[in-house]
Amino acid sequence: MLNPTRHNPSSASRWARWVLGPSEPGQGAVKLTLLALAVYGLFALNVAVQVNLGLMDPEPALWVSTLSLAGITSFYLLVRSGLSRHLGPDPSLTLPQSVFGALITAWGYAIDPPLRGAIIAIMLLNLVWGMFVLSQRQAFGLYLFGLAALAVAMVFGAVTDPARFPPAVEGLHFSFAAILMTAVSVLSVNMARLRAKLSARTVELRAALGRIQYLAHHDELTQISNRRHLSEQLAAEQLNQRQHGHVMSLVLIDIDHFKAVNDSHGHAAGDAVLRHFAATLQTTLRSTDFAGRWGGEEFLVVTPQASAATAAALVDRLREALAEASFDAVVPGLRVTFSAGVAECAPGGDLHLAIDRADRALYQAKQTGRDRTVSEFAPLL
Ligand code: GH3
Ligand code: MG
Ligand code: MG
Repeated sequence: MLNPTRHNPSSASRWARWVLGPSEPGQGAVKLTLLALAVYGLFALNVAVQVNLGLMDPEPALWVSTLSLAGITSFYLLVRSGLSRHLGPDPSLTLPQSVFGALITAWGYAIDPPLRGAIIAIMLLNLVWGMFVLSQRQAFGLYLFGLAALAVAMVFGAVTDPARFPPAVEGLHFSFAAILMTAVSVLSVNMARLRAKLSARTVELRAALGRIQYLAHHDELTQISNRRHLSEQLAAEQLNQRQHGHVMSLVLIDIDHFKAVNDSHGHAAGDAVLRHFAATLQTTLRSTDFAGRWGGEEFLVVTPQASAATAAALVDRLREALAEASFDAVVPGLRVTFSAGVAECAPGGDLHLAIDRADRALYQAKQTGRDRTVSEFAPLL
């Protein structure tokens, strides 16, 4: 039998999701708006107590409490429903919420003569609220707006009800508000400047990290995968191969008589040939294949889910592409050929042994005249 008092975590989390929204990133904005809602609720309670004590007229008190609660509830609904994301870059609607708060605060000042001095502190809360989100311009604009709204409330009080808002006292209240709000706004603007610097630094760091990751995975000269990345890709592909039971093939490629290119035309020409060769190799691969610079003028091609015969066909395509590719820009009339060794690796087979076999096949290709492909078909387990 079910125990009715038993705690039911799934219904609690369902309730939390209903109030805060389904996704973690959006919940931060909803939580902040809920905090604001709680603050408005507490102020409404405070206003009710003041009415009970005869410090405030009931009618304006009811209006300010109702409108402020209706306003903040609307903000909550906009943020919770996700509509706020379509209204601007800040899903918390911090600036509109702060402007609304400043208006309500100034209104509260005008209708609460006995506690109006304390209400100046609420205006400070409006400035602090935006400190972690607003830009320097927005923070400064909010400060001017809040101070102006208070000034209007003070002048209104002094003109329409000078008995309860003596002009001299209002002048002093204004100077207090101006001193406090200016100090807080200097902090707020400084905080915005710091945040702007920090986010610029984060962008720079992210770009540097991207560059480091790129360099860790790519060969600097040819811009294709380096040996470390290729080894990682190979290990991942082997797991995949084990799961699906496919064979894969490896091709070791070595440019023929490359030393002669360096010796006859210089190291820079050799570099250019390597770059050109790597680019041609990349364009020949199928989307499932991957390749990288294995070292010096050697390249390794991996053809997942392909037999040695399929891999050898790919090498033929590379040979044709290379025959068509002109190295004239490097050295007029230069012809570049390569030798290739192909090895098949069965699922669960030893990768190092397979690479070894491809290497031996490559050696055979060199021994038997270069500019050719040798395949070893027998899979090694
Ligand atoms: P084989 O046909 O037997 O492969 O002869 P090969 O001349 O291509 O091979 P060998 O191993 O004798 O020479 C490879 C040369 O590749 C030697 C080395 O200086 C050159 N090399 C290695 N890395 C680079 C590089 O990054 N840039 C340039 N320009 N040359 C390189
Ligand atoms: Mg070599
Ligand atoms: Mg060579």
